[in-house]
Amino acid sequence: MRRILIATSNPGKLRDFAGAAAAHGVDVAGVPNFSSLPPVVEDGLTFEANARKKAEAYSRYVPGEIVVADDSGLEVDALNGAPGVHSARYAAPDLLNQEPHQAGANTDDEANNARVLRELEGVAPEKRTGRFVCVLVAARNGKTLATFRGIAEGVILDRPRGSNGFGYDPLFYFPQIQKTFAELSAEEKARYSHRGAAFRQFLDWCDGLADVPAQAILPHS
Ligand code: IMP
Repeated sequence: MRRILIATSNPGKLRDFAGAAAAHGVDVAGVPNFSSLPPVVEDGLTFEANARKKAEAYSRYVPGEIVVADDSGLEVDALNGAPGVHSARYAAPDLLNQEPHQAGANTDDEANNARVLRELEGVAPEKRTGRFVCVLVAARNGKTLATFRGIAEGVILDRPRGSNGFGYDPLFYFPQIQKTFAELSAEEKARYSHRGAAFRQFLDWCDGLADVPAQAILPHS
C-alpha cells in the first residue's frame, strides 16, 4: 500500500483524507512530529503558492516520502476575490500587514463571516456569486510533484443557514442541491466540495503511480 503523509495539524482534515484514500489502496498519515516542526509562513499571493510552500518545506523533513499540503478559501466576486488567501484570518485586517501569515494569526469563523456579510450589505442576490477553492500539492524531497485544484461554485447568502461544517459553510449556498454547505452531511460535503474534488484528482494520480517506481516520478515544472 502506498503511504502518503499529510502536512496538517488538523485531525478532522486527516480523517477526511484517510477515509477517502483507503478505497484507493492509499495509506494516509500525518507528517511525524508535525506540531514541533517550524511553521511555514503562508505569505504566498495564491492558494497554489502557499500549498507548494508547505508541501515542499515539510517534505524535506521526511526524505523519500510523498507529502501533501492543501490551501483553501472563499473567493467572492463582488469583493474582487476576497477573502481569498486571507480566508482564515479575514477579520484581522491589521494583522495581515504586520504579522507573518501563520495559523496562530487565524481569526474565528463567526468574526470572518460577519466581515463578509458587512461588506456584502446591499449587494443584490444575483451579484453575490463566489466559490470555494482548494489546491493540493504533492511534494517529495523539497520538490513539487503535482498540483490539484478543486472548485465549488455558489452564492453568498445574507444570513447564516445550517450548523454543520466550519468556516464560511453557513453562508455558502450551493444551488446544485439547494442547500448551504452547513446543511450537508459529511458524505455530501465530500461529494460536492472543492476539497473533495481536489482530493479525488489526487487519488486518481496516486492510482497512476501504482505501477511506476518512485524514482521515475518527474518533478512538476
Ligand atoms: P485552510 O485550508 O485550513 O487554510 O482554510 C482556510 C480558510 O478558508 C478556513 O479557515 C475557512 O475560513 C475557509 N475554508 C476553506 N475551506 C472551507 C470549507 O470547506 N468550508 C468553509 N470554509 C472553508
